[in-house]
Amino acid sequence: MIFFNKPYLTGKETQYIFDAVKSGKISGNGDFTQKCNMYFEDRYGFKKCLLTSSCTDALEMCALLLDIKPGDEVIVPSYTFVSTANAFILRGANIIFADSSEINPNIDENKIVELITSKTKAIVVVHYAGIACNMDKIMQIAEKHNLFVIEDAAQAIDSYYSGKPLGSIGHLSAFSFHETKNIISGEGGMLVVNDDRFIKRAEIIWEKGTNRAAFWRGEIDKYGWVDVGSSFLPSEIVAAFLYAQIEEMDKIQTKRQKIWIEYYKGLVALEQKGYFKLPFIPDFATNNGHMFYVVCKNEDERDNLIKYLKENGVYAVFHYQSLHKSPFYENRYKGKELKNCDFYSDCLLRLPFYFELEIDEINTICKLISKFYNAK
Ligand SMILES: *Cc1c(COP(=O)(O)O)cnc(C)c1O
Repeated sequence: MIFFNKPYLTGKETQYIFDAVKSGKISGNGDFTQKCNMYFEDRYGFKKCLLTSSCTDALEMCALLLDIKPGDEVIVPSYTFVSTANAFILRGANIIFADSSEINPNIDENKIVELITSKTKAIVVVHYAGIACNMDKIMQIAEKHNLFVIEDAAQAIDSYYSGKPLGSIGHLSAFSFHETKNIISGEGGMLVVNDDRFIKRAEIIWEKGTNRAAFWRGEIDKYGWVDVGSSFLPSEIVAAFLYAQIEEMDKIQTKRQKIWIEYYKGLVALEQKGYFKLPFIPDFATNNGHMFYVVCKNEDERDNLIKYLKENGVYAVFHYQSLHKSPFYENRYKGKELKNCDFYSDCLLRLPFYFELEIDEINTICKLISKFYNAK
C-alpha cells in the first residue's frame, strides 16, 4: 500500500511538548510561539508573524483586519480550498470568483481587472502547489485600483517569486501547518502582516480583542478589551510541535524536492507522448516540493486512473471542486463560466507525496501510470 499522505515526525516533537508542559505555560504566545514567529520573520523578512490555530484562522483574521463588511466584494480564485472564500463570506462579503490560468491552476492575472467594481476591496491569490502567482502583475492591478492583496500561501512555505519569499508580497498572507502541508503541527497556521498599518491591530484581534500582548511586553500597565477579536492563537503545545519541524525544515524541503524531481523524471516521457500534462513552473517561480500532480485529458480518464492505481495499492486523490459550483454556492453564483477552473477540477490528479516516500515507491507509481496508458 502506498498512502497519499503520511505526516513526518522529526522525533523532537514530543520532547518539546514535554518541555512546554514542564515550563508551566501551555496557553498561547509563550516561548515556543515566539520562537516560531521570530524564526519566520528572520528567515523570510516577514514584517510580523503570528502563529494561528489554522490557515483558516489566519484568513479570517485577514477579513477582520481589512474591515470587510456586507456588500464588499472580494476576488477569489474558484479553484481553491473552501477557507479562502469562507473567511470573507463570514463577514458578509460577496465573493467574485476568478478563473485559473491555462498554464497552471493559479489565478489568471489577465482576468482580474474585468472583475473589479467600485465595491471591490481585495484580491486573494492562492499559490497552488507552492508555485507563485504572477505577483508583479497582481500587485500593479491592486495598486491601480486601490485594493488589498492577500496571499493564501497555505501550500507555499519556503517558495519564492522572483527572489521574494511567497507570503512577503501581499499586504497580508496566510500559511498552513496542517498535517498535509510541508511543515506541520497537526492543525496550525500563521498570519503574516507585511503592511505596517495592520501590525498593532493584528496582535489585538489575535488576543481576543485585548492588548494583552503589549501588556506582556511591559508597554502598558493594564490590559483590557480594545477591539473585536477572537481566540486565534494556538497553545504552546502546538507551537512546540511546530518548532521541532522548523528545526528540520531544510532537510524536509530537500527531500521533498527530490521526490518531486523523481516523479518528473519518471513521467516526463509520457507527457511528451501527449497522455497528460505535468505541473508548469513559470520562470519567476520556485518549486517547494509541496505536491505532484498530473492533469489528465478528461474526467473519465482521471477517474479510471485513480481506480487503476487504487486496485494496485496506490492512493491518489483529486481535489477542489470548483467553489462556484459547490452545493453551498452554485445557486448564488451569477458570474461567467470558469473554464480552466472546471477543467482542473475534472482532470487534476494528485499523486502520493510525503517525506518518507521512497524512490522505488515513486518508480512503482510511475510504472503503473505508464502501464495504464500503454494498455489503452
Ligand atoms: C490547506 C489549505 C487551506 C486551509 O488550511 P488550514 O490550516 O487547514 O486551515 C487554505 N487554503 C489552501 C490553498 C490550502 O491548501
